[in-house]
Amino acid sequence: MLDQPMPTPSAPTLDQNALARALSGHHFIGGRFVPARSGRSFAVHNPATGAEIARAAEGDAADVDAAVVNAAAAQKDWAKLPARKRGALVSQCAALIGAHAEELARLIALETGKALRTESRVEANVVADIFSFFGGLGSELKGESVPFAPDVLSVTVREPLGVVGAIIPWNVPMLLMALKIAPALVAGNTVVVKSAEEAPLAVLRICELMNRILPPGCFNMLSGFGPECGAPLVAHPKVRKVTFTGSVEVGRIVAVAAAEKLIPVTLELGGKSPMLVFADCDFEKTVMGAITSMRFTRQGQSCTAASRIYVERPIFDRFVAALAEKVNAMVMGDPLDEKTDIGTIISEGQFEKVKGFVAEGAATPGAKALVCSALPTDPALKKGLFLQPHIFTGLTRESRLVREEIFGPVTCVFPFDDAEAVLAEANDSEYGLAASLWTNNLKRGLDLAHRLEAGLVQINQNLVVQANLSYGGVKSSGLGKEASLEAMQEHFTHKKTIMVNYG
Ligand code: ADP
Ligand code: MG
Repeated sequence: MLDQPMPTPSAPTLDQNALARALSGHHFIGGRFVPARSGRSFAVHNPATGAEIARAAEGDAADVDAAVVNAAAAQKDWAKLPARKRGALVSQCAALIGAHAEELARLIALETGKALRTESRVEANVVADIFSFFGGLGSELKGESVPFAPDVLSVTVREPLGVVGAIIPWNVPMLLMALKIAPALVAGNTVVVKSAEEAPLAVLRICELMNRILPPGCFNMLSGFGPECGAPLVAHPKVRKVTFTGSVEVGRIVAVAAAEKLIPVTLELGGKSPMLVFADCDFEKTVMGAITSMRFTRQGQSCTAASRIYVERPIFDRFVAALAEKVNAMVMGDPLDEKTDIGTIISEGQFEKVKGFVAEGAATPGAKALVCSALPTDPALKKGLFLQPHIFTGLTRESRLVREEIFGPVTCVFPFDDAEAVLAEANDSEYGLAASLWTNNLKRGLDLAHRLEAGLVQINQNLVVQANLSYGGVKSSGLGKEASLEAMQEHFTHKKTIMVNYG
């Protein structure tokens, strides 16, 4: 039974403020809510109003140790369960999360500022789908029989790695967590998640819900800051695998720390994803595609955001005008209002960072920004971190706006004349996460898809990560894949060889 010091509701609740308060001040370790060992906590804000909505336990090495020790103790029995039984329990979690989807959507909208209708509700439903997908894959943890010699049976079996440390960011925290812990758990590992300091609440509620189904200690959740709580998790001797989504800068720190212990890491890092638009594309579909690709409804806070858009010259002017018109019609406002398309930036730090890029673009000679969508006028939102989408033209490829990940509603559009030249330009980036190209010439589309340096290339669509499709970048965008069966096998198990000489 759960020992709940806080009165979190057992039924789904649509009162996100009360739920945020109820979740305040606790990690979830060994099947129960516990405060930080130090007694410390930090504030969680609603970025649409600036109000403090909750406090989160401020984890440090002592909390990490408690969580990892619990996870390690639970792992032995968890791994002994038949794989299909583990999968069945994860499928039950999917159903419970599905039943709480609206609650989770409202909570994530409250803490991240992502609009309920266009983003938060979508995320909550995809999360349930990810758990349901991996829940069905228990029986796919297969090994092989290997021809070796007569009278020797040689087989491989897939074994779990042990305790997995998962570190997640704030932009799509529930989904990015699900991509890590669903396969890790089904494969027989137990997990300790360190949430992002900006968005610790919805993932904590998911942890609580899943702990109604999973044995205690299988899924533990810590909140806290990177160096104080994330770093000791990576460094803990009992953590046998780290999976991280975040910035390139921190990804490198995590990889170095994991290398010290010689443990495997999966890294999902940044992107500067190009979108290539040819004059023979389906024009209207492609304009709408640019809005989806740029993740304007998520304020561009996406590592796959199409932050570099290259448009073939004959349709360049018309395309930029049509895009600006459509973005202009989007409604910016209270994230919890059904009418809202675009909510807020996550935090003041991020707000200032994006404004710095915008100011630099605006000051660039020859550059021009189309500033779209009206800021909300509701006085209740006057402290909200609302930032208008900016569509820049006239920048040069050396500009920081074109080379660096902005993680805000800012995209740069360029005309091009030649397919080979635009391919070279698209590939001229330290990143290689995702790319899309839009054309009705399938021969050209497939040729370029093969030559674009990216982990995911889409032609005539640009969907977000989907269950069953491997997702992960090349170059500085990361190491390894997520979301697929192979991701579960390759990143959350090791292959043991067993040989039997029966001669
Ligand atoms: P962002 O810049 O978007 O916040 P970060 O890479 O800084 O992305 O953060 C992603 C996650 O990594 C967060 O959960 C953060 O707390 C964590 N983190 C930050 N620094 C470290 C570190 N030195 N070691 C481990 N985790 C860290
Ligand atoms: Mg950071």
